[in-house]
Amino acid sequence: MTADRPQAWHWPHLTLLAVLPPFAWLTREHDATLALLGWLVLNVTLLAGAERMRAFRDDWRPEREDLKRDAGAWSINALADAIAGVAIALLGARLSAGTLDWPVLLQIVVGAWLAELGGYALHRISHGDNWLWRVHLLHHRPHKLNLANALTAHPLNALYDKVARVLPLVLLGFDAHAIVAITLFQLTQSLVTHANVRGRIGWLNYLIGSAELHRLHHSDNLADAGNFGTALPLWDQVFGSFRYQSPPRQVGVYTPQAYPGEHQLLALLAWPWRR
Ligand SMILES: [Zn+2]
Repeated sequence: MTADRPQAWHWPHLTLLAVLPPFAWLTREHDATLALLGWLVLNVTLLAGAERMRAFRDDWRPEREDLKRDAGAWSINALADAIAGVAIALLGARLSAGTLDWPVLLQIVVGAWLAELGGYALHRISHGDNWLWRVHLLHHRPHKLNLANALTAHPLNALYDKVARVLPLVLLGFDAHAIVAITLFQLTQSLVTHANVRGRIGWLNYLIGSAELHRLHHSDNLADAGNFGTALPLWDQVFGSFRYQSPPRQVGVYTPQAYPGEHQLLALLAWPWRR
């Protein structure tokens, strides 16, 4: 902990976390895709306003070239997300172990930790010297963090991340409402942890993921590297990759000259297959 940690509370994050349970409850009988879209619109609206009013760093505001890349990545990833959803439904229908007979609240808590374990494991492996890093590179290539590039990632990355998080829950027979609630939480966490909004969440950093923790994951300094869990820090704490220290000086990759430029979306998409 250091003195240069932002002192104001991260109200947009805390507000979204407070609104999430009633939102999940009120939309429980509605179509899950519609509920997810509604939640996405609400999150983006609040965080976009917060980025304008209380930016963490002025030099992280997106410019036209950034937005072009990010719009392209979001469009492709919407498709990847849909494909992952179909694959999960098909595999779930064939291989599910039945229905889990636990209270829904317990399923939400245990399911969120379990989903995070799948995401954590794949994410940590993706930061090794292997092919998955070539896939994950696109997410780390930008040298700023903001709402626009929160979901900027390779479609394969989006696909395997969703499968790793959701498929185990489906196979174990978790309640569909619990899975939707967990997905809403993960969406908020993905957006908030990248959004360029000033603020801290204090001791909550030991319980849930935050922008403070995730900016360190994107640092171009290896000493900061860690925090592979975006939604929850539990597995980072268990496996020794938890970092809670001064904000990074710079975000991006350690050796940018070794990779395609950060706005070369097509080259970054093709990077996993380039020699
Ligand atoms: Zn990463």
